[in-house]
Amino acid sequence: MALLVQKFGGTSVGSIERIEAVAEKVISYRDQGNDMVVVVSAMSGETNRLIELARQIDPQTRGRELDVLLTTGEQVTIALLAMALQKRGYPARSYTGGQVRITTDSAHNKARIKSIEHEKITGDLQNGCIVVVAGFQGVDEFDNITTLGRGGSDTTGVALAAALKAQECQIFTDVDGVYTTDPRVVPEARRLNIITFEEMLEMASLGSKVLQIRAVEFAQKYKVPLRVLSSFEEGEGTLITSEYGADKTMEQALISGIAFNRDEAQLTLNGVSDTPGVAYQILGPISDANIEVDMILQNVSADGTTDFTFTVHRNDFETALDSLKRTAKKLKAREVSGNNKIVKISIVGVGMRSHAGIASRMFEILANEGINILMISTSEIKISVVVDEKYLELGVRALHEGFDLKSQP
Ligand code: ASP
Ligand code: MG
Repeated sequence: MALLVQKFGGTSVGSIERIEAVAEKVISYRDQGNDMVVVVSAMSGETNRLIELARQIDPQTRGRELDVLLTTGEQVTIALLAMALQKRGYPARSYTGGQVRITTDSAHNKARIKSIEHEKITGDLQNGCIVVVAGFQGVDEFDNITTLGRGGSDTTGVALAAALKAQECQIFTDVDGVYTTDPRVVPEARRLNIITFEEMLEMASLGSKVLQIRAVEFAQKYKVPLRVLSSFEEGEGTLITSEYGADKTMEQALISGIAFNRDEAQLTLNGVSDTPGVAYQILGPISDANIEVDMILQNVSADGTTDFTFTVHRNDFETALDSLKRTAKKLKAREVSGNNKIVKISIVGVGMRSHAGIASRMFEILANEGINILMISTSEIKISVVVDEKYLELGVRALHEGFDLKSQP
């Protein structure tokens, strides 16, 4: 008999019919002899609706009272799901985050979980109860209600699974797993049976938004196997785990997936003197403006001057450009330029570690399509290129085809 933590997102509990269907699904796992803890989000659209209400009173609203408001969304769902389970003859109890006692820090609207008391839950499970917990919320040490940031129910699920030492944390959502790339761009994209945390983090941070990044980090840290599955269809979903099985029949491709990010912008400072402190003088004001920098590139210098290029989120482009123009004057740089019509495409895979020549294969595939590469960066398990935005679809498709991601490895 295993202990499973299952998390159902907003669309999965978006109506009474959907909540009844979730009850049936949970019961099917319970009937197989599993102890069940279920974490739910607010009904779809509810969190946004609550935020909108708050904004009608104060457009800038945040902090403590917003958390009191937002947590009501999840409280509705836990009660309804527990009722649906009870109606079917299965004892169930619902708890808010504070009742479980999920203790967080006091950073309202983006709190972090510090500890979880699980005695109540364990006791209920021993009594044969299905336990239903509100996602996305906790209390700080002074009993103030807190929330974990948008999408935070994933984190609640993983944290509970870690605290209860569950066999698996299963995240039910409206997609049936993690794909080799976005199926809207590449219809032949294939669902992965298994992927490592490292790869998933690269994919997620690059814009494949299946899971909250923080939840994946948490699962990795506490070694909680995570599984993403559809709440609408049957299937195995995608298992996210520390390692591919030693068993070589488990798929381990060279490349697991292709991620991309449309929201990129590039800024360049040409002809800046190549002396200590220059990089700091360029990027200091950018980070002071709370702008996150992604890729950074400095040329080999010629005649004592160099070129400095970096990328930021497209929303930050104008602010970063203004700041860079001021810096350019100070540093007597030759020229400032920027381009906010760029995208980043990355191939991701732990298989890269043990194989040479993947970068050149990637560049060859792009060259064959006549796609010019503007910037390149690499990590141990990822190669990213920046290209003109008009090449996004073409580039992703060509790489998917070129690395044969549609076939099982
Ligand atoms: N209801 C919250 C949100 O929409 C938390 C969640 O769904 O994970 O962000
Ligand atoms: Mg959600």
